[in-house]
Amino acid sequence: MSIPDIFATLDAQLDWQRDLYKDLHRHPELSSEENRTAERIESELAGIGYAVQRIGGTGVVGVLENGTGATVLSRADIDALPVTEDTGLDYSSENDGVMHACGHDMHIACLLGAAKLLAEHQDAWSGTHIALFQPAEETAAGAQAMIDDGLVTKVPKPDVAFGQHVMTTEAGAVGTTAGPVLSAGDSLKITVYGRGAHGSMPHNSVDPVVLAASIVLRLQTIVSREIEPGHFAVVTIGASNAGTKSNIIPDRAELLLNLRTYDEGIRTHIMESIARIVRGECATAGSPKDPEFEYYDQFPLTDNDADTNARVTEAFAAHFGADRVSHTAPYTASEDFSRVPDAFGTPYAYWTVGCVPTDVYQKAVTAGTVSKDIPANHSPCFAPAIDPTLAVGTQTQAVAALAYLAPAGGAGR
Ligand code: ZN
Ligand code: ZN
Repeated sequence: MSIPDIFATLDAQLDWQRDLYKDLHRHPELSSEENRTAERIESELAGIGYAVQRIGGTGVVGVLENGTGATVLSRADIDALPVTEDTGLDYSSENDGVMHACGHDMHIACLLGAAKLLAEHQDAWSGTHIALFQPAEETAAGAQAMIDDGLVTKVPKPDVAFGQHVMTTEAGAVGTTAGPVLSAGDSLKITVYGRGAHGSMPHNSVDPVVLAASIVLRLQTIVSREIEPGHFAVVTIGASNAGTKSNIIPDRAELLLNLRTYDEGIRTHIMESIARIVRGECATAGSPKDPEFEYYDQFPLTDNDADTNARVTEAFAAHFGADRVSHTAPYTASEDFSRVPDAFGTPYAYWTVGCVPTDVYQKAVTAGTVSKDIPANHSPCFAPAIDPTLAVGTQTQAVAALAYLAPAGGAGR
């Protein structure tokens, strides 16, 4: 495969991208509140020559039609987190308690950079490019908001879709994989009911604290006893709340669970097992009222199409050199990116771009302290190296798009 060389002008636009990145980093906005961010993206996209629409509140989509050929959708998420920045960078957040701690500012600057390259070199490719800027990834609400606002009827149906994420691997390194790359994530609030009583008269109660404790222990057997060894699943009980005072037996208890899976069958199995165990324990305890289950913050599985991943990986290796592209193991983190291609019925690939300076990363690898010494995504100290991350993340988006937009023969027209 031959990718047209549209990168001769990359160096000339990097200062614009660096300023853009720093501006976005200084002005982070929480999920679904990305108003300034969306306005900045709109004006940059329009300046580049894309036809711009607002979809799903603070979502922005730019479309560049350039003759016949494939339609490619490239996506960046745009929201920040409720984290107080502690990086000491001179372009640190100016919004108290809010920080681009997951690198979505980098995703925006990279995709706008790729859009600019594609717009300035329209003689080198043919087809339609869609640059989609999605709000509220961190709350799993933004992709769905864009779909609910008619995304699939407002832009051309893509033949393929791409997403990427900066990760704390070596800057400039690209990671790809076929199949699951990010887990499905589900949060669940369970409320179980007892009968309240004075702490000195337990015989008058159905004690929800004991009931909840029994449920917490029994839930541990889902992964350890029901899921086949070697298959991936996480069931974490992140909160167990009941009661107010030592001498009061409360009338209810609340459990907050988090589930991670790479397989829809395993996910369904776990959900059914949770319901079975909770109902069973409630019956055993003589609970006076049915338990309640409320699922929230649900992230779909990110499951890369094998053919799409192979084509993109080959294009990355040809462009960057095979030594800069490696197979990545699936991450246990989750994303709502896949809702967008799934809404169109479109195959997709999602890859990672490293953002830690080589010397820092190699030193930590040698010392075996990567997870301890390198602040990861969501940390108040998360600080991607602008160079070369920005240039690499710009090229990954452009190269992946060109793997589908380049005319047959690949040498341009
Ligand atoms: Zn995040
Ligand atoms: Zn993120």
